[in-house]
Amino acid sequence: MNLLNFNDRFPNEEACRLYLKEKRESEGIICKECKGTRHYWIQSVAYWKCANPECKSCTNLRAGTIMEKSHLKVRIWFMCIHLMTSTKKAFSALEMQRQLGMKRYEPVWYMMQKIRLSMGKRDDKYQLNKTIELDDAFFEIVDIAEKDELGNKINDEELKRGRGSQKQAKILVMVESTPNHGQTNQHKKKRVLGYIKMKVMDDLSSVGVNYEVGKAVNKQSTILSDAYSSFVKLKNVVYKHLSFVVPSKEAHKKLPWVHTVISNAKKLFLGIYHSINRKYLQNYLNEFCYKLNRRNFNSDLFDRMIIAGVKDTWY
Ligand SMILES: [Zn+2]
Repeated sequence: MNLLNFNDRFPNEEACRLYLKEKRESEGIICKECKGTRHYWIQSVAYWKCANPECKSCTNLRAGTIMEKSHLKVRIWFMCIHLMTSTKKAFSALEMQRQLGMKRYEPVWYMMQKIRLSMGKRDDKYQLNKTIELDDAFFEIVDIAEKDELGNKINDEELKRGRGSQKQAKILVMVESTPNHGQTNQHKKKRVLGYIKMKVMDDLSSVGVNYEVGKAVNKQSTILSDAYSSFVKLKNVVYKHLSFVVPSKEAHKKLPWVHTVISNAKKLFLGIYHSINRKYLQNYLNEFCYKLNRRNFNSDLFDRMIIAGVKDTWY
């Protein structure tokens, strides 16, 4: 969907609200009070009324969705989701504010963080399978909640306590990678990239690594990694763990995709965000992973993201 198509599909707020209503009804409305699934739509007040005569509770159009409590128009949300999902790159909140023609920066920044959170929730529902390349990575961050991605202060109280220092966040990166025996081109990778996950870690102890891998990876999988000491107990959580002792210069040969993914994410972040607060780093990684995982979806990505936004419960 390009901008012209977007305008044709969603020419005004009414069209967006109608689309949101249809998506919510196709996914099923669940009553917050009695968990009932039968509802009547009351057009005059734009909400659903629970069909359970004992309950009769009301659910408004945005309740329980990513847009709940937001004062922004549905069309602004749709346009933001469209812009975020229509590029492999990313938007800073300032650029998004310009594109949407919004007066205030904060609501736009907050909307984008919620969309990224929703992307993460969606990807957390799936486990990685088969063969997985695993490695750690370090990303530059600001450690105190004093600056947003553009370097603007966001909290006076926290600022008084001292400036945030540049630090490195520890990230665990897991990438599905299967051999491509038909690949004879010397300049191309001999393995095919599948789905990926990137997780911000408090530490890279073997307990922490095993916990994350246990959640993210199917137990029947095989993990390929270097011989880093934090990875030595991985065989406790997966079917097989193969570790290689390789000089770092040659690591990309044994683990080609995990290194490419890390370097692409770093390049993207460096070019767009001035500094990333540790508290929000996972959100930026969520967006990167979500889009890479759906790189072949093309125009379906917008609809998928709307479904994710209405399906996830935001109560
Ligand atoms: Zn009810």
